[in-house]
Amino acid sequence: MSSNGAAHRQIAGRLVIATRNPGKLKEMRELLVPFGIDAVSAAELGLDEPAESGATFKANARIKACAAAASSGLPAFADDSGLAVDALGGEPGIYSARWAGPEKDFRRAMQAVEERLRERGAQAPDQRKAQFVCALCLAWPDAHVEGFDAAVHGTLVWPPRGDKGFGYDPMFLPDGHTRTFGEMTNAEKHGLPPAGKGLSHRARAFLKLAEACLAKR
Ligand code: IMP
Repeated sequence: MSSNGAAHRQIAGRLVIATRNPGKLKEMRELLVPFGIDAVSAAELGLDEPAESGATFKANARIKACAAAASSGLPAFADDSGLAVDALGGEPGIYSARWAGPEKDFRRAMQAVEERLRERGAQAPDQRKAQFVCALCLAWPDAHVEGFDAAVHGTLVWPPRGDKGFGYDPMFLPDGHTRTFGEMTNAEKHGLPPAGKGLSHRARAFLKLAEACLAKR
């Protein structure tokens, strides 16, 4: 069921990806490829970015998807995601992008996480647990909305490892793995079927969305 209790609505044809984050855009496009969706980004359409004024990942994903659907007249797909660190009471959470500052410097953001963990004496792996969380929202111009969310649990390592991925990937070691997301190819990070059951928070949420709203080609 969708978030308003109605039956799931299927997506076909053109879809706006409501993000200006190049890392997310690349991952979302990759996830949509097998479904034959013609994905166009909000930047390509010159859409304005709404203020992310929600208090949760879910609320922010909805704000972004609804704004893009209303201004483009097309169904729109948005992600709100971030890193929630247990020892920091869930921070940086919905402020994960902001911790990188205006220069979007994620070395600085990872350093800030590490400094706060050290201030709390969190050195042992079990004191350094974190989750990547992802809320996906599909919105249509008539205000129909569908939402899906998921998380991946792991441990934060220091120093960061690997130069793949984006954001906090180099310090995130997913449970049951020996390489950080920064050391994995995008395909490994997604961990999609048939090889896997979905590894990253985004891939896991996307699998739920695909099951409900996308027909495989
Ligand atoms: P927002 O959803 O645009 O507010 O940004 C979320 C931020 O969370 C991103 O800028 C990244 O810093 C971080 N983030 C979300 N997903 C990932 C991921 O898959 N890998 C690394 N960092 C992520």
